[in-house]
Amino acid sequence: MIKRSRKAKIATILVLLGVVVSGGLYFKKNEQKTIQTAFFQESTTQYGPTDPSALCNDCNVLLLVADTLRADYLSSYGYSQKTSPNIDQLANEGFIFRNNYANIPFTPPSHWSIMTGWYPDHHKLLIPSADESSPSLQLPDNMPLLPLIMKSYDYSTAGFVSSPSVGFLADYFDKFIEFDEQNDPSRLTGFRKTTNASLDWLEKNKDEKFFLFIHFWDPHSPYEPISKHDVFKSTQLDQLSIKAAKYAGEIQYMDSKIGELLNEIKKLELEKDTLILFTSDHGENFGEYPCDDFTWNSGPCEDHSVSVLDPEIKIPLIIKIPGMNAKKIESISQSVDLLPTILDLVGIPQTQPTDGSSLLDLIGGDENENRFAYSIIPKNLVESNIYTSGLRWKEWKLIRVTWIDDKTHQNKFILRLHNTTLGEKENFLAKEPDLVKKLLQQIEVLEAETPLQGLREENLDDETIKMLKSLGYL
Ligand SMILES: [Zn+2]
Repeated sequence: MIKRSRKAKIATILVLLGVVVSGGLYFKKNEQKTIQTAFFQESTTQYGPTDPSALCNDCNVLLLVADTLRADYLSSYGYSQKTSPNIDQLANEGFIFRNNYANIPFTPPSHWSIMTGWYPDHHKLLIPSADESSPSLQLPDNMPLLPLIMKSYDYSTAGFVSSPSVGFLADYFDKFIEFDEQNDPSRLTGFRKTTNASLDWLEKNKDEKFFLFIHFWDPHSPYEPISKHDVFKSTQLDQLSIKAAKYAGEIQYMDSKIGELLNEIKKLELEKDTLILFTSDHGENFGEYPCDDFTWNSGPCEDHSVSVLDPEIKIPLIIKIPGMNAKKIESISQSVDLLPTILDLVGIPQTQPTDGSSLLDLIGGDENENRFAYSIIPKNLVESNIYTSGLRWKEWKLIRVTWIDDKTHQNKFILRLHNTTLGEKENFLAKEPDLVKKLLQQIEVLEAETPLQGLREENLDDETIKMLKSLGYL
């Protein structure tokens, strides 16, 4: 199986290299350079008109990211107790994506995927810039970056974040303030400061067209809700359930701050011109699953950056579009879809390739069962020789763990096929060999050296078209 897998990968890469050499990839290199050069010259020149027929042409964009928030702890995603009245209200007014996934369960690279539309494999920006051992922040050529694109279309851009873990984005916004709730002994000051700074900025910039990014550190551990929100009781007396109850309290506190921001949008009469997106960077494990043989860790799965199981990567996504009715969407979506979706909604043409694809087809049309989500834990993230990837498609998730055997120095693989509807416990690997083969082939294409969205059929040969169609790219 290993040999066939390697061969398939090599064949796939060769096919893709052939596409690149033949000029088949839709990379408008000159246009990309123009945008980046123009930004560094502080130019406000526009690069192609926006689309006036876009659903929210020229709208403000408010992007809210709650750190470490797994979807199923929000009432609107089925939690049994009232953790999130304000987020629920947003969900009642917007599009709620019920099967949305992070591309990596770790804060910095997940934020990079949100801001670029690229998988961690491609942006390779895995480690916080504050870490001296990290590589310098040389952004890859051709990589789109949301705040820079918005700025090039005359948006005022601002970021207010509650942790140094996302401070690396500071260079790309007009205004950026990093608060440190993460290391604040009271664990509350930074949170309040982030919200208040955002409210002040909104008041002062309400007449500008803006892109505002706000990051909330909580409900990240340690789980220490203030007493007003420490209201959830564990249903079992084991330590992990007690942790989960505290976690729910932190969510409720964070939700109250989201409520303050949404009320301010209403008070300033910005609602009709503002696209609002709410999501997270990853979830959190509370030991529901043993990690044992399919992750780098051993023992129970706790915290995050451990596995690609749903508690760590299934996160909320809610998009409120002015003038559009609420809708529940069951099709699969992922963090890398955000950038192309935002550009589509406000009418900015996408000129750089991404791994994600716009969610506009789901917003404006029917469900699409061919959408998938791809998540990884790279080996340099966990300082081990293990690499984990997970591909969610329909109700299935294939998890592939690759590691170098210390004795033989050979790649070894563990595969698991889970049914996410039944819970990710039973391994269906032996029962679904054709499905496993198809999903493995898809993973190998996703590991190619370049983003694939943006390929144009007229520039590809018949064989490549056939392969990409079979994988859902065309
Ligand atoms: Zn995080």
